[in-house]
Amino acid sequence: MSVVTGGAGFLGSHLVDLLLERGHRVVVLDNLVTGNTDNLAHHAGDANFRFVRQDVTEYLYLPGRVDYVWHFASPASPVDYLELPIQTLKVGSLGTHKALGLAKHKGARFLLASTSEVYGDPQVHPQPETYWGHVNAVGPRGCYDEAKRFAEALTLAYWREHRLPVRIARIFNTYGPRMRLRDGRVVPSFLAAALRGRPLTVYGEGQQTRSFCYCADLIEGIYRLMMSGSALPTNLGNPVEMSVLEFAREVLRVTGSRSRIVFRPLPQDDPRQRRPDITRARKLLKWEPEVSLAEGLKRTVAWFRKRLDGAVDAATE
Ligand code: UDP
Repeated sequence: MSVVTGGAGFLGSHLVDLLLERGHRVVVLDNLVTGNTDNLAHHAGDANFRFVRQDVTEYLYLPGRVDYVWHFASPASPVDYLELPIQTLKVGSLGTHKALGLAKHKGARFLLASTSEVYGDPQVHPQPETYWGHVNAVGPRGCYDEAKRFAEALTLAYWREHRLPVRIARIFNTYGPRMRLRDGRVVPSFLAAALRGRPLTVYGEGQQTRSFCYCADLIEGIYRLMMSGSALPTNLGNPVEMSVLEFAREVLRVTGSRSRIVFRPLPQDDPRQRRPDITRARKLLKWEPEVSLAEGLKRTVAWFRKRLDGAVDAATE
């Protein structure tokens, strides 16, 4: 059996889909702070699936055998973790401790969903796993960056002290269906604006760079990493890098929108450049992203269009 913390969230729910498809039994633990059971509604009634509403910073009790613990619970959008800095720190520290404790008790393998944010505003480019990062612990992003850095240290401590089989995925910007329209990240923000004919808000001059990985590619990498034999952190992301301004133009092209682009001040500590070095994932997992940005955006746009057309969503989002 697999336990997925944060399984009602964007990436967690895509992971649940893949696990069920590949014949795993799945229990999701999620307190629904940023997750939503709508993301799992299609599994209702499946005997191999169970949802438990729980805050993973509390003691985790589950009867029966557990083979894999996938620790995905955490706010992940800068807007969310700015609003929830204490919960973000708690889930990265206490929540990771509880999830590791569960894995140890059950003799299960453990995978931590870590992040490219551990590199902060990087001074090495592209970022290999050997880079230690450049993080402002007391800045607005510190709650997320330090929580995940602590989570990585704790995960490795369980490997060193208890020989718990652990895996650490450093996830770079990922997008796709089920991102919340208002989660504040650049993909839903630009797509929602473009589809509504509202201006796209580019922060700074839009010269900061990101590279965007489609969720299906990312989840395949996550699965392979869990099944691999390495405890060391592994970058997972798409190495195709572009500026935020170029990305805004691509969104306008794919959606056929005539929205304007407007500029707003750059948030503090916003990383100026980010691109994963995925040499390790290529070798270790024989993995690399396959879905192009145009194709991934097309699939994501189709999903966002449906959401925007629904009257219910207009009221709830
Ligand atoms: N961004 C932007 N407009 C938005 C939202 C984000 O220009 O409406 C920029 C943001 O400043 C950052 C990049 O897009 O440089 C990616 O932001 P996101 O919040 O998706 O995640 P990050 O990669 O910063 O964690």
